[in-house]
Amino acid sequence: MTVAKRIDGKAKAAELAESITKQSAALLAEHGIKPGLAVVIIGEDPASQVYVRNKKRTAEACGFHSVQHTIAADTSQSDVLQLINDLNNDDAIHGILVQLPLPAHLDEQVITQAIKPSKDVDGFHFINIGKLTAGLTADAFVPCTPAGCMLMIEDEMGSDLSGKNAVVIGRSNIVGKPMASLLLQANATVTITHSRTKDLPQVVAAADIIVAAVGRPDMVKADWVKPGAVVIDVGINRVEKTVDGETKMGLTGDVDYDDVCTVAGAVTPVPGGVGPMTIILLMANTLRSARLNCGLKG
Ligand code: NAD
Repeated sequence: MTVAKRIDGKAKAAELAESITKQSAALLAEHGIKPGLAVVIIGEDPASQVYVRNKKRTAEACGFHSVQHTIAADTSQSDVLQLINDLNNDDAIHGILVQLPLPAHLDEQVITQAIKPSKDVDGFHFINIGKLTAGLTADAFVPCTPAGCMLMIEDEMGSDLSGKNAVVIGRSNIVGKPMASLLLQANATVTITHSRTKDLPQVVAAADIIVAAVGRPDMVKADWVKPGAVVIDVGINRVEKTVDGETKMGLTGDVDYDDVCTVAGAVTPVPGGVGPMTIILLMANTLRSARLNCGLKG
């Protein structure tokens, strides 16, 4: 029986963190600039609070100027837009992130589009989406999760994916669509699948690269997977897990890891795969923004 390689996103993120920390220190020493990241969290969604805490901790560890704005769930849209406007005009801030999801009365589109494209380190502004879709990847802020997935795919398969079939499961604006753009840019033949796709296992079976971004625990099984395929699991699902007879809440991905490992060439675990890469790519985008702001190459 084959046992797939475990792609260690945590170790790769730690390597990248070391390089970002050094570059951040050099920017401070040579140009007097600390990369500045502002994270805005609205309301009290517990998962969002964990994500924001991790982002702040990582930003500080990289030597960044890190600011968190925690605002009440019932804050008006105009007050949120005023805060974004202040951050857009704050020279100490190079990256602005508004943690999603937002409370229902706030318009996600209006709020994400209010962030200056040059500080849009999440890559959600239409200018950055347009650049990515037009193939101007080097000039865009690319959304952090697909950018992190792409680095792991490149490690396994190189940067030219000519002749490879890639199947992305999920078509969200945050993950699925930008992931497909990046794979296409690397010359892969890309299929985007979603909840309306027919015969999903059959479509997935043709893939040399599978990226699962759905939000359904353990959905992708071994018999969907071509032998040797590289499998990237973006899903984060909270489930009950029984370990040593004790049942606790734990995390699992969209890929049935143990099952798929019997067939695939390499698989990312959950946790410890895509998650840590997403956070470090946010730092990479913020550093890039600060460097561009100093007139340096990103
Ligand atoms: P989303 O809900 O916006 O999109 C889910 C997509 O899955 C949709 O396009 C939908 O069509 C598709 N889908 C739903 N059921 C399906 C089915 N049965 N078969 C095929 N496709 C189906 O979600 P999202 O924001 O893209 O996130 C997806 C998952 O990734 C979630 O679990 C989320 O928590 C996780 N996520 C993880 C990270 C990270 O850093 N690791 C970042 C973002 C999202």
